[in-house]
Amino acid sequence: MSFHIRPLVRRFRPYTPGRSIDEIREKYGLQQIVKLASNENPLGTSPLVQEVLRKKASFAFRYPQSGNPRLVEALAARHHVSPSRIVVGNGSDEIIDVLIRICMDPGVHNAVAFKPCFGIYSTQTAFHGVELRQTPLNEDFSFPWNAMLSKIDDKTSIVFVTSPDNPSGYAAKADELEQFARRLPQHCLLLVDEAYTDFAENDEEYSMIPRLHTLQNVAVLRTFSKSFGLAGLRLGYAILPEDLADLFWRVRLPFSVSILAEEAGLAALADIDFRQETLRTVREGRNVLFQGLRQLGCHVFPSLSNFLMFSLPSGGPDAAELNEELLRRGYIIRPLSSYGLPSHLRVNVGTEEENAGFLNAVREILNR
Ligand SMILES: *Cc1c(COP(=O)(O)O)cnc(C)c1O
Repeated sequence: MSFHIRPLVRRFRPYTPGRSIDEIREKYGLQQIVKLASNENPLGTSPLVQEVLRKKASFAFRYPQSGNPRLVEALAARHHVSPSRIVVGNGSDEIIDVLIRICMDPGVHNAVAFKPCFGIYSTQTAFHGVELRQTPLNEDFSFPWNAMLSKIDDKTSIVFVTSPDNPSGYAAKADELEQFARRLPQHCLLLVDEAYTDFAENDEEYSMIPRLHTLQNVAVLRTFSKSFGLAGLRLGYAILPEDLADLFWRVRLPFSVSILAEEAGLAALADIDFRQETLRTVREGRNVLFQGLRQLGCHVFPSLSNFLMFSLPSGGPDAAELNEELLRRGYIIRPLSSYGLPSHLRVNVGTEEENAGFLNAVREILNR
């Protein structure tokens, strides 16, 4: 190829997604596949959302309204914040990407995160040409705040914290996050990724949203991909300091949230029953999986999220072998080698039946 390519693009290591159902069905010649790999909603898509999508299908030829004002208003009302602080994007992935490009000069500024962290923080900082400094998590996957602070200098622009964390499920209380935010220099934005916060039993103790009005340098990211069940439509949002929200709208690609994603988002916010049922299913299923894996001798990490991280008892198959055997039986979960955790696995909570089937398959493979 004779075009110029940025050297960092040639070196680029892409995001590793969970395996897809079609891919595994074909490879193993299976009829029935259970996917518990990408933290999707166990109940699928809300019936109300499906109805709205059918109704609005004929509007697909229109461009969405600039700035998605109806969705922004609905989100502002939901969280009791000013609409001028809300931004929406093509998944929270897009918001992460745009914030990196707003806040940092390539080769000059840096971002800080824990290690391991959500893959998009590393891919998008790398693509933009800014350094990502990573602080190893504590042994129990809790957050080493002092060590993180020591990575921060006068060129640090964004500090990423996912809570509940992916892949461990560990969550810090909002009190703890606030204390940390108050220790940060004013030029650092603490970006708290709350993709999973609503799965926590007492989510008000964990969310930073009620405290945002007292903290100038904190922003919160949320998504429709998990508890709202819209991963495939791509819709995320953030509550930002007002100046940053304004800049976001100026530089974001104008129509990155499609007209159907916007309608689906509004319908998902309105379908309170579906959401309650999702939260109940996830919280109950999480206990079932936690106890079940423990009884099989696995080391299971406490999780406030819609997934569990675990490692296997010694003397049996290793994580890669278990994963392969599960695939043969039609269960897709997430091996964590791309997170630098080759002996850990992550499984998301499914329906009651899926959870039971998964536990049976693990029991059979571990021969217990
Ligand atoms: C799933 C997930 C998201 C959501 O990403 P979308 O682009 O909104 O689908 C964000 N952050 C973390 C840590 C996640 O695991």
